[in-house]
Amino acid sequence: MFAWQTFEQEEAMVENKAMNDAQSGQAKGLIDQELLDACIHCGLCLPACPTYLATGRETESPRGRIYLINQWQQSGRAPQSRMVEHIDSCLGCLGCQTACPSGVQYEKILDQARPGLTKTKPMWKRQISRFLFAKVLPDYNLLRRLSRLLRIWQHLKGRAFLEVLAKIKFPFAGKVAVLEAFLPPVPQFQPLPKQSWNVGKKEGKVQFFSGCVMDALYGPANHAAVRLIRAQGQVVEVAEQTCCGALAYHAGEVDIAKQLAKGNIAAFTDKEGPIVVASAGCGAILKEYDQLLAKESDWQQKAKQFVSRVQDISEFLSEHVFPEHVRRRARVAAPKVAYHAACHLAHAQHVRRPPEKLLNQLLDDVKEASGKPSFALVPLIDAEHCCGSAGIFNILHPELSLAVLKAKMARIKESGADLVVTGNPGCLMQLAAGARQTPGKPIQVMHLVELLDEAYGLAKPDD
Ligand code: SF4
Ligand code: SF4
Repeated sequence: MFAWQTFEQEEAMVENKAMNDAQSGQAKGLIDQELLDACIHCGLCLPACPTYLATGRETESPRGRIYLINQWQQSGRAPQSRMVEHIDSCLGCLGCQTACPSGVQYEKILDQARPGLTKTKPMWKRQISRFLFAKVLPDYNLLRRLSRLLRIWQHLKGRAFLEVLAKIKFPFAGKVAVLEAFLPPVPQFQPLPKQSWNVGKKEGKVQFFSGCVMDALYGPANHAAVRLIRAQGQVVEVAEQTCCGALAYHAGEVDIAKQLAKGNIAAFTDKEGPIVVASAGCGAILKEYDQLLAKESDWQQKAKQFVSRVQDISEFLSEHVFPEHVRRRARVAAPKVAYHAACHLAHAQHVRRPPEKLLNQLLDDVKEASGKPSFALVPLIDAEHCCGSAGIFNILHPELSLAVLKAKMARIKESGADLVVTGNPGCLMQLAAGARQTPGKPIQVMHLVELLDEAYGLAKPDD
């Protein structure tokens, strides 16, 4: 049966049930009709959609979701709960936007729809999310304390304890164990230096954006990024800053995202140099602060200036050079390295060449330094397909997230890679969890900057 018919039938069923149980969130005029009308239902985006590939359901595809949002907009009524679920199950990876030959701006559709959909959620759920976005994530000291607790939990073998509870069917233990399995080994927190540089000529100044999750769970990657920037002759500064607001924004809590954006703009306005970030998820929203604050005339100019300064770490490093003495010591231990393109880097920021350029440069440097290639860059099929992490998607939709991850891990296995590098904390967490659960040859997962830092021998024991 043609997939569209399946969708029509399913949709008719949903309509008939008239699950119009939400009290608010009417969509009339909420979404620019032009954006929705741009979709010609050709379906060419379907093979790029991880949730469609994992479920085979039209309602979990971009075409289906656009159709549902359009129906909602046309109806002028509150959205039905089934419809909200279908939109919620979208990773927001934007693979469809890249694939669409008609230029459908799926991100804008989603951004305009989400606040209305969020209003239909139970108040208690929203209050918890809002507390998390507004009070927990921006409080870096609290996050560091929480990461310390997680370290203790891991040290005490909490995972094994949870698995025992899950086996005896202790309430919720199974669900918590699934979520806990995503957690990486939590590193000991080491603060980034407020200002640092290497001995020698100073080429310029860089402002480093640390990110909240990166800071608490992937501190070593941030330290590696700072060392790499310093090795290129820059003075690196780490200003007092706050959470980027991406998670709040993607959950439809736009007011919180705007507050956080203003906090960061204020924090960096008087500081000199580009704003460099090693978390693709943060970078994507930092580059959209001008759109987020488009209707706030007092902030427009400052937001535009801020956005013009933001660079992903791969963009910055690939535009500058490592000194000869650093390049001469290039070594890579893993025989086969693959690159997974984080959605927020490839699809949202359109940053594709810089990570490749850095990896190819490393390959050349290793050849030059040792006289022979010590590692191979292996192609990863569907490298730009989402891994299923997508912010907190793996927490909210663990089953679908695992199905998407399974497809990604199968591709990684096919590639034969011993090491996968990427540029986003969510991907690091998701892929590492996938690697732990994949039988056969061990697969290591690292941030691209950790590979470069290690390869160029920049880490010192006290760093
Ligand atoms: S989003 Fe683009 S590719 Fe997908 S169905 Fe619509 S027009 Fe076709
Ligand atoms: S954003 Fe990703 S998951 Fe959502 S519809 Fe597009 S391709 Fe599918």
